[in-house]
Amino acid sequence: MRGRLSIDLGALARNYRTIQNMVGENCTAAAVVKADGYGLGVAAVAKALKGAGAQDFFVANLDEAAALRGILGEGPVIYTLNGFDARGAHVYQSEQIIPVLNSLEDVQDFGAHGQDLPAPALHIDTGMNRLGIRMDRLDALQGHDFSLVMSHFACADEKDHSMNAAQFEVFQAAAKHFPRTKKSLANSSGAFRSNAYHFDMVRPGMCLYGLNPKPETENPMEAVVSLSVPILQIRDTAPGETCGYNATYRFKNKTRLAVVALGYADGFLRSLSNGGVLYWQGIPCPVRGRVSMDLTIVDLSAVAERALPTPGGMMEVIGMHQSADDLARDAGTIGYEILTSLGARHLRRYID
Ligand SMILES: *Cc1c(COP(=O)(O)O)cnc(C)c1O
Repeated sequence: MRGRLSIDLGALARNYRTIQNMVGENCTAAAVVKADGYGLGVAAVAKALKGAGAQDFFVANLDEAAALRGILGEGPVIYTLNGFDARGAHVYQSEQIIPVLNSLEDVQDFGAHGQDLPAPALHIDTGMNRLGIRMDRLDALQGHDFSLVMSHFACADEKDHSMNAAQFEVFQAAAKHFPRTKKSLANSSGAFRSNAYHFDMVRPGMCLYGLNPKPETENPMEAVVSLSVPILQIRDTAPGETCGYNATYRFKNKTRLAVVALGYADGFLRSLSNGGVLYWQGIPCPVRGRVSMDLTIVDLSAVAERALPTPGGMMEVIGMHQSADDLARDAGTIGYEILTSLGARHLRRYID
């Protein structure tokens, strides 16, 4: 018995169009599909996004880019965010992939090995100190030709964080060095924070997949992912007994439990031990004890006797009552990590 993971490609396409409509016709909504389309399956996800009108795609590395070219065919623009790897120059050439250059070393490597390639993109560090060329080194780029100049927000999910405005100002200053080049600054959250952040292209990822780009408000996006998992056993404890590894939960009373086919190897993070919740027909059933690799134990005390499930019944992990963001909050992480951890064991169903 396996979990059922449903991915609503119709909702994904509508989320894409919501963003494209929001940014208007003078701005392009690209689609970020790195890490196997945020764990949802890049083949299905990328085709649906292309069908919804996406023409620009971002992945992390050249392997992802080459696979994506196979999926999308000729036409769409594909960028690698993690820089230029000179050893793969022939692949950039044959698959027409555009590297995002992240340092002066990248720019030099590209100059030496990328002569036959289309103009690359350039990432400028506006304060995140992750990737990107530093502002004080822009002068070294005189005479180089770029197809896109971009940067990345560190704190766009925090509405009033001072770094948002600060990075915007630095990016505007950087942009003056490249008056004729297309510009891009915003990820999902950045695109929702201010129209001024849109420039020529926004680069949403998470909000396409239904995560909330404005965590302080109701989610403006449609849910894309749902996950339910089968109950393997129903069992009763005696008062004073414990359950699971390391006996971390002790029952005061006789308690009815469900053991479900879901563990940390399926993306139900171990930090949900004694903290997460699954739903049986809308009723919250708290996790008791440790989440193990393939199994989790939940407490059915809140379920009325006549509504109790039987083995084979499917419990909701992500769905109407619990979003991936809710699960992330309980697990002490972010929805991105929940989605990219979902793993390969669930039965996947793609809905149009
Ligand atoms: C992952 C990524 C994005 C997309 O971010 P979301 O928060 O998922 O919208 C955009 N730009 C860069 C550089 C990224 O690494």
